[in-house]
Amino acid sequence: MANSKFEYVKHFEQPDVLLPNTWIVVRLDGRGFTKFANKYEFAKPNDRRALDLMNAAAKAVMTELPDITIAYGISDEYSFVFHKTCTLFERRASKIVTTIVSTFTAYYIFYWSTYFPERPLSPPLPSFDGRAVCYPSVQNLRDYMSWRQADCHINNLYNTTFWALIQKGGMEAPAAEKLLSGTLAADKNEILWSRFGINYNNEPEIYKKGSVVLRDYELVEPSSQKTAANEVDNIAEPVQQSKTQAEKEKKLRNKAQVTIQHLDIIKDEFWDRRPWLLS
Ligand code: ATP
Ligand code: ATP
Ligand code: MG
Ligand code: MG
Ligand code: MG
Ligand code: MG
Repeated sequence: MANSKFEYVKHFEQPDVLLPNTWIVVRLDGRGFTKFANKYEFAKPNDRRALDLMNAAAKAVMTELPDITIAYGISDEYSFVFHKTCTLFERRASKIVTTIVSTFTAYYIFYWSTYFPERPLSPPLPSFDGRAVCYPSVQNLRDYMSWRQADCHINNLYNTTFWALIQKGGMEAPAAEKLLSGTLAADKNEILWSRFGINYNNEPEIYKKGSVVLRDYELVEPSSQKTAANEVDNIAEPVQQSKTQAEKEKKLRNKAQVTIQHLDIIKDEFWDRRPWLLS
């Protein structure tokens, strides 16, 4: 590298290395998607094509970045999780976040015409913001994932009821909003059932649970993971195995096909059956 008298400016760069030995979560979110959804006439409350497009972009990101162990998406947002031992870009936050966000955005635009063939994109083009957050414990990481899925559930139940009142009940938005203010989940379920014959439980899983992206790898039998230890803290202990065996399995997992599923990630079962995600 040639030296120049200008090179000192490099020292103005601030280090942004993420705390070692912590679970890194990068969450991206669509910029101004309320407006964007209106422009492209997304179905209310859930446009299936738009969700499938988000999922296709997330799957591509995960395929290109094997360091990501699991991702979770709802609405216009996606969270990508890196294992606590990850050393990608020396854990520099800006490099990790910008790479994820730009790769995701590129694929979102690349796949747009597959999901919206009759609606070509025009400026302003979709863009996403992103941030990285470090979670020091498995419990913190699981609580983060649970927080996002609980959000999905709360929003979807509200939106499903709100739009049923408008689309099927002929209500104006302010009236529907007023009717729903202060209601509990049970009240919304009751409104859906008694007024519209909708059983919320029968709504599509993708809307109720969001989307989990992960590598399709052998599941651990539900019972074999239960030990006295994880009955205390409800978190599976890693199974002891030789280093070479562990390396071999890790390689196999990284090669496994990336899949999208709509599962409960709040309950222990999901994590118990996939102990490699947290060990
Ligand atoms: P910001 O730039 O602050 O994120 P925003 O308008 O994107 O603003 P969000 O809180 O991210 O606000 O909300 C996302 C918006 O996109 C919601 O209004 C939601 O209805 C809409 N949206 C996203 N995905 C879908 C979808 N699949 N179907 C219908 N609407 C969607
Ligand atoms: P990193 O991911 O670390 O940035 P990189 O391969 O992108 O790796 P850079 O230092 O960013 O490394 O270098 C950019 C590379 O792209 C160089 O090899 C350069 O020759 C090539 N490149 C970029 N733009 C052009 C261009 N317009 N014409 C020819 N080569 C280009
Ligand atoms: Mg936002
Ligand atoms: Mg948004
Ligand atoms: Mg959002
Ligand atoms: Mg480069």
